[in-house]
Amino acid sequence: MDSHTLFRNRVAVLATMHRKERVIAPILQRELGIHVIVPQNFNTDRFGSFTREIERSGSQIEAARLKVEKVLLLTGESLGIASEGSFAPHPHFPYISCNREVIIFIDQENNLEIIGEELSTDTNYNHAKITDIKQAFEFAEKVGFPEHALIVMLNENPQNTDEIIKGINTEKALLEAINHSLTKSFNNTVHLETDMRAMYNPTRMKNIEKATYNLLEKINSLCPKCSAPGFDIIKRIPGLPCEWCNTPTTLTNTAIYKCQKCGFIKEKLFPDAKQFANPSQCMYCNP
Ligand SMILES: [Zn+2]
Ligand SMILES: [Zn+2]
Repeated sequence: MDSHTLFRNRVAVLATMHRKERVIAPILQRELGIHVIVPQNFNTDRFGSFTREIERSGSQIEAARLKVEKVLLLTGESLGIASEGSFAPHPHFPYISCNREVIIFIDQENNLEIIGEELSTDTNYNHAKITDIKQAFEFAEKVGFPEHALIVMLNENPQNTDEIIKGINTEKALLEAINHSLTKSFNNTVHLETDMRAMYNPTRMKNIEKATYNLLEKINSLCPKCSAPGFDIIKRIPGLPCEWCNTPTTLTNTAIYKCQKCGFIKEKLFPDAKQFANPSQCMYCNP
């Protein structure tokens, strides 16, 4: 059993309506011989949308897993893929936004679940309150419009879909949307934000592609005992010593890998290919 004999010439259903197949399908086709198909009329928005009119169910990984389960049920296939993105301020630098992309790969035939991930500060995720057209175009220029689309809303927590205009990617459409929303607004203010749906956001699409390469790496990581794909880290143990004073830091010293098939466990020293931590990470050398 290895990733090539397991997956070659199989059909995988990708649960998306935002054109994610553009970056996901070629990688899995070329590297593993998987034929990726996208079902028609599979509405992924009912699992939660970025514009918050529908709340996401559960965690990011749970939401992706749920999408795969639904799409496999719908199509009767046994191999499914879904991805899910989230955007939040960087944990250490709140002025910078972070995009976390997860992509989940589930093989029901072989009882495998493998998850790829990308954490990136490369995102245009942003929003603004604006009161006139000039401010709207200033915001648009800052976030890479028109290659990256925009969303106009009456306020930041829309109650229903007719308060939201999505996928704005021409100057004319932006002008119309702003004017339309300004006339409907009580306080002469509208909420403008970046459209984070993959096909309207090339920067996010790039991060989904990187997450797919990470997934491929994990699919190709085989258990040394039974060769099952997805031999992955289940625990990171901190304590990588400081390069100057040898004090243990919070960086990973040892990683524990586990096979989800046979349960084989392996410890790996210095999994990030570094034997010492940079002194900037040390609580004594860089207080
Ligand atoms: Zn194994
Ligand atoms: Zn130190």
